[in-house]
Amino acid sequence: MDGCPLPATLCQIDHAEDWCSGGPTDLKLLGPACQFHNRDRYRHPTRYIRRKIGADRWAFTYRNPRDSRNPRSARLRV
Ligand SMILES: [Zn+2]
Repeated sequence: MDGCPLPATLCQIDHAEDWCSGGPTDLKLLGPACQFHNRDRYRHPTRYIRRKIGADRWAFTYRNPRDSRNPRSARLRV
C-alpha cells in the first residue's frame, strides 16, 4: 500500500481481488497489507486504485474521498 509505514513483516496477506467476492488465492494475486488497509480496502473499494507494478506484483493507492483533487469527491459535494 503506497504510503503505509508498516513493514511487510507486520502485515497480513491480502488478496488483490476480494476473496469474499470469489477472488482466487493465487500467489500472483497476494501481497502484504497492514490490518487497517486490508480491511479498509474491502469496506471502501472505491477509495483504492490498483495498479500493476511488475509481472506478478500489484500496488494500491489510497484516494481520500475528502480531497478536492479527487473528481469523485468533487461530484459528491455539488
Ligand atoms: Zn497500512
